[in-house]
Amino acid sequence: MQGYAAVSLNLDSMAHAFGYPQGYKDPTFRQVLDRFEMVAREFGLPYSIYTIGRDLEQPAHAERLRDLARKGHEIGNHTWNHYTDLGALPYAEMRDEIARTHDRLAEAVGVVPRGFVAPAWSYSDRLMRVLSELGYRYDTSLFPSLLYYPFVIKNALNHLGHANKFRRVLNRRDWAQPIIGPREPYLTRGLLMLPVPTTPGPAGVAVWHTTGFLLGWERHFAMLRSAMRARRYFYYVVHPADLTCDEDFDGSQRHFLERAGGSLEGKLRRFRESLAVIAEAGRGWTTVAEMARAARAELSIKAA
Ligand SMILES: [Zn+2]
Repeated sequence: MQGYAAVSLNLDSMAHAFGYPQGYKDPTFRQVLDRFEMVAREFGLPYSIYTIGRDLEQPAHAERLRDLARKGHEIGNHTWNHYTDLGALPYAEMRDEIARTHDRLAEAVGVVPRGFVAPAWSYSDRLMRVLSELGYRYDTSLFPSLLYYPFVIKNALNHLGHANKFRRVLNRRDWAQPIIGPREPYLTRGLLMLPVPTTPGPAGVAVWHTTGFLLGWERHFAMLRSAMRARRYFYYVVHPADLTCDEDFDGSQRHFLERAGGSLEGKLRRFRESLAVIAEAGRGWTTVAEMARAARAELSIKAA
């Protein structure tokens, strides 16, 4: 199947993972983004980078994103605080989480974001309404896969020692979403919904870089090929932790993300291998925004 391929970098920073420690030098905006950029140059691809607003309180971080935008990468919105129960928040609080980052990106980075992804794919109808009100064109917050349940449980276990974060992980209200949620893009309230790509069939499984760590790499590559065949609009979700390594942590912060450690060589190899599998399909790379634009046009033709 011909189609589109993009890479969605959901920029969950280490500062966020550690609760924004005072004076912490976050490798995310330094060597980790250097590594992502190096791989982007090798493959000739633009990232779509969804940013946590709070990270932009540091001018150096905003400057880094400004530079990435100049180089042709897309910058999107990943809320201000990265609350994992975003979809369940009251209207005003939810709107503030999104609008604050929106304004900050315009001010400090010089971009008006058009794309969004919710923390932990926490989703609701109210969220679609807010995004549509704020002029967003597309959203990638839907996760129509049974992997949702082990993912949420693991996330909760990771936050066992932090009552507030633990509560937020479980406070989400979209428990049926993985079962009833659409798997193909659709338009609603002027917003294009782009669900996380899955393998074909009713029991299709979401494929993003983390599945390689969860299910093993050979299986991951096979699933990736199968998802590419099934999905015309394919985007590959990656995170900073996919290219962090042991040397990035000086031991002063205890990290709960197992996959954040490891050898850099091994992690770069897995990342390159995954991108090579996607490139095999011969689609050429684009941003999620461009892909969404094409999907809107094609869906409107179909509807007419
Ligand atoms: Zn996130």
